[in-house]
Amino acid sequence: MPIRQLTETMINQIAAGEVVERPASVVKELVENALDAGASRIEVATAGGGLGLIRVTDDGSGIPEEELELAVSRHCTSKLSTDIHDIRSLGFRGEALPSIGSVARLTIRSRTRDASSGAEIGIEGGEPTGTRPAPANRGTSVEVRDLFYATPARLKFMKGERAETSAITEIVKRIAIAFPAVRFTLSGTDRSTTDMPATGDDEKGRLARIAQVMGKDFPDNSIAVDAMREGVRLHGHVSIPSYTRANALQQYAYVNGRPVRDKLIAGALRGAFADVLPRDRHAVTVLFLSLDPALVDVNVHPAKADVRFRDPGLVRGLIVGAVREALAASGVRSSTAGAS
Ligand code: ADP
Ligand code: MG
Repeated sequence: MPIRQLTETMINQIAAGEVVERPASVVKELVENALDAGASRIEVATAGGGLGLIRVTDDGSGIPEEELELAVSRHCTSKLSTDIHDIRSLGFRGEALPSIGSVARLTIRSRTRDASSGAEIGIEGGEPTGTRPAPANRGTSVEVRDLFYATPARLKFMKGERAETSAITEIVKRIAIAFPAVRFTLSGTDRSTTDMPATGDDEKGRLARIAQVMGKDFPDNSIAVDAMREGVRLHGHVSIPSYTRANALQQYAYVNGRPVRDKLIAGALRGAFADVLPRDRHAVTVLFLSLDPALVDVNVHPAKADVRFRDPGLVRGLIVGAVREALAASGVRSSTAGAS
């Protein structure tokens, strides 16, 4: 066969394979967009585990009518100026909306602060439908229907409504921990609604949000961590050794406000607790790392859950040292006999 260029829709579907693994990935991308738009209220509604419907509504900046078409075009973003090493927003790749639009039916309805009316655009079969006027509140509402209808092979990998719904809940909670000044509401088909009112951006507000998400037990059974090394700050809470879990799923980590699943952080936490916890028990942790964006590469994977630190040794040392110190200072004793 002769060499040919892939069609735009095929290129977007290939990108979607990486960005949109399951309904929860769509929710993550849309919620991150709402946060980047400065929203103070974000509502997530789903049906059928997110495969039938995902709707994310925010009260953020909105998208100007004349930019709606760009918003759904590949590699178009309002977030990157010139330097890919200085990323301060959650998004920057300009990939999420076109990717989602290539595997689902997408509608975006939006209105900016100064616009007198709203507008909407859709994507059907990978093609934008054209911008048209539409009634809209200030902010943006993105609706995704029939996820993966265009890629039946991917649809087959979905785990069923219950599992997909719980993955969505988990991702919203994980993000909500990092944005306590934002109100999050999450509702599904079963009429259950999780409402997390804003608690505020100060230390008290952060702890209140953690309690909303993880239950009041955690703040009662945790100690504060706050340390700084060579410009890298680590702060948050770790559970005391009597409050543990059988797995590490409740170890939440954030790098500059971005939720991450990072091997280095997980390994550092194992090291920090090695002396006080049996090997099959895991601490519950919520830890925020803040550092110069130039010292961490968030462009490792399209879903942006992995990061690479310029100086991994520094970060590891900071976590192990700070957590051990906090445990020692709080006077908690080891739960394993003989350890000190
Ligand atoms: P990225 O977030 O990497 O820029 P996306 O495909 O997710 O790429 O979004 C493309 C663009 O659409 C964004 O850069 C932004 O300008 C606009 N946009 C998307 N969602 C929203 C939203 N909820 N509020 C305001 N603008 C949005
Ligand atoms: Mg985005």
